[in-house]
Parts: sequence; C-alpha cells; structure tokens
Amino acid sequence: MRATTAFNKMLEIPGADVSGVEFTPAGIVVSLRRRAKRLTCPCGWSTTATYDRTIRRWRHLDLGAAQLFLSAPIRRLACQRCARVVTEQVPWARPGARHTRDFEDVVAWLAQRMDKTSVARLLGCSWEAVAAIVIRVVAAHINDTRLDGIYRIGVDEISYRKGHRYLTVVADHDRDGAVIWAGEGRNHQSLEAFYNQLGPTRTARLGAVSLDMGTAYAKATRTKAPGATQCIDPFHVIKLANAAIDTARRWAWNNARGGPSTPSPRVRARITSPKGSTARKVKNTRWALLKDPARLKDSQREALDELRRTRHVLWRAHLLKEELRDLYRLPAGRRPDAHLDGWLARACRSRIPAMVKLSKTLRKNRTGILAAIELGLSNSKLEGLNSKIRLINHRGYGHHTPAALIAMIYLCSGGITIQLPTGR
Ligand SMILES: [Zn+2]
Repeated sequence: MRATTAFNKMLEIPGADVSGVEFTPAGIVVSLRRRAKRLTCPCGWSTTATYDRTIRRWRHLDLGAAQLFLSAPIRRLACQRCARVVTEQVPWARPGARHTRDFEDVVAWLAQRMDKTSVARLLGCSWEAVAAIVIRVVAAHINDTRLDGIYRIGVDEISYRKGHRYLTVVADHDRDGAVIWAGEGRNHQSLEAFYNQLGPTRTARLGAVSLDMGTAYAKATRTKAPGATQCIDPFHVIKLANAAIDTARRWAWNNARGGPSTPSPRVRARITSPKGSTARKVKNTRWALLKDPARLKDSQREALDELRRTRHVLWRAHLLKEELRDLYRLPAGRRPDAHLDGWLARACRSRIPAMVKLSKTLRKNRTGILAAIELGLSNSKLEGLNSKIRLINHRGYGHHTPAALIAMIYLCSGGITIQLPTGR
C-alpha cells in the first residue's frame, strides 16, 4: 500500500484526498487535494471564481509522538453577499483557524476537564492558542435559541483578576443553573445588555428573576422586565448573615480588649463573661460561629458550648443566624412571613450592631426574600456556579481577556457537549 493511500484511509479528511506525505523535522506534513471546485464563503454563498490562492497549514491530531499538519491550497473569493474578498471555508477546519476541527474539539473537551497548562503541555500548543480555540469552539456551539422559553432566571456577579474585574452572569433555574448569558461589568447597563439581547417578547415571558440585594440588577429588571417577580436569592441572604456574624465577632473581640467602640456598659458586661472570656477565645470561635452546627469539629463545638453557658453576646448572634437559616427549612404549615417578621423584630432589638444592620437590609428586601421561598427558588445552583467559576479561574483560564473567560464559562457551565473525534 502506498503511503498516500494509507494516510487517506487513516485520516479520512472530509472533502479532500491525500496527495503527498512528507516527513520533516517539525513533523509529518500531509498534502491535500480538494475535491470541490466551488469556493464557499463562511456565510454560505459560493462561486467558481477564484480571487487568489495560497498554501495553508493546519495542525491536526498527533500521530504517535509526531505532530501532524495538513497542507492544502486555500483560495479567496469575492463574496457578493458579504460584499468583500474573503477566505473560503474548508470542511476540516473552522473559519480563520490554524488547527483542524478535530484538534480544536479535543482542546475544548480537555479544557472542560483540566487546567490550561496541562492542556497546552499535552497537546504541544501555546496558552494563547488554547484560549483562541475555546472562543472559536464555544462560538460554534452557542446560538440565540438557548434564550428561547426561559422562565426563571438567576443573576449574579462574579469577580475575576483577584476581585478587580467583574462579570454579570445569568443562569437558567429550570435548566440546572446552566449559564445562558455572561457579560462584562456589574452595573445596571451590564444586565440591560442581556435583556436587550433577549428582546421584548421573550423578556415579557419571564416569570421570575432572582437577584442579590444590590440596586443595579434590581433597577435593570424593573425597567426592562417589569412583569417578572424579583426574588432575593437565599444564597445572598445567608452570605450576608455570615458576614454580619463575622463583624459581630470582631466587634465583640474589640470590646473584650477594651477597644474604642464600646457600645454600652450592659452589653460590655455580657461580653466579658463571668468566666473571663478572653479576646483570644473570641477570636478562636470564628469557625464555630460560621460553620453549619451539624458539621462542627469537637473543639469548635466546645467553643460554641462555652458561649452558650456564659450567655455570651455572640451566642445570641449565633442563634439569630441559625433562626434566619431556618427560614429556608421551615416545616410544612409554618408561615415564612411570620417567621421572617419575628426574626426581623428580634434582630432589630438585639443591640448587636451588625445584626441590627442586617435586619434593616433584610427588612428592605422582605418582599423579594419571601417571593423566593414562595416560588421555590433556591440559589444553591447559582452558588454552585460561583464555585465552578472560581475553579475555572483557578485552573488558569480567563486571565487574559474577559472574552476568554466568558467563553470558558459557557464551555464549562453552559451545558455544551463536545463530541470527541473518536466518539463520532
Ligand atoms: Zn460571504
């Protein structure tokens, strides 16, 4: 069997036959002869008139340890539909690509599963090439129909570049929290860009939008999707409560040290408990206060027990936090509005500044908090999304441009299935 015949059978390049095989120091170069005489623009328009031609190389999947390149003439045409000279489309590669479709699909499949350095190392290409490939593959996989029929969405901001830059991410509650849109920034214009893309008809069909407690997304939703019920994501309520606990703990710690911000002698007396709870002890109780009580370590449980025995002010703060979490796990028949109102009243009277502040914020968002419970919108999926995106960042993707990060988010959280060349 001739080498060209062997490579022809082995590679099965669509729309072309192998006309020559060359072994070079850079790798194996396989020359192709195109079968089609017509030139096709990426827009679909075709012609037989060639504007000019060059030879181009595409990196293809490795053959053993050797890199393999396809080499073929590629022509330009004067497309009448695009009204400009464009490079023709070839069946084995995406427009503009210097890698074959098979190679790019393998890169994207790996990028869904491992860090960028490993992908680049394994396939012998640069980081920049991996990022460009991910953008191209994602563009080929997502289209506007993903926004059809959406009814309950969640909006959240995510930070990148160590918290200096932000993206606005929209996820579909009814499709397991799959990301359906991501854009730069976190102000009301960022989210308005999404509603604009959605268009008035589809926006009018939105039933519920879950949000954080900021004003930006609420404003955009109020103007663009006034018919949708605004809900506050439970995830954000609990996050805020945890932040309040942390503030309360530092406040109590400062008071125990005799810090400057002493609120009142009565509270002060309770912070410095009879047993002499020192500043250090208060500091050590951090995780005991923040973690789910069901998952505490023995030492943390002891720290919490001591707060309870000494009727420490932080014990009351802890109880308030747990009562707030109860809002999302009430037994059937208990009214969430009554539970929330009771909680707001107790927190407001607690004389713990962070808890009083929390109660004020939650009171302002009372309607949205209760709407989330009524509509059964748990934000656990969006919370999962947050950690997924942190993982993407952690794997070294998206450090260069927002476009690269957005493409990675679609690739890993947008429900995109990549077919491997071996699985077709
Ligand atoms: Zn065209």
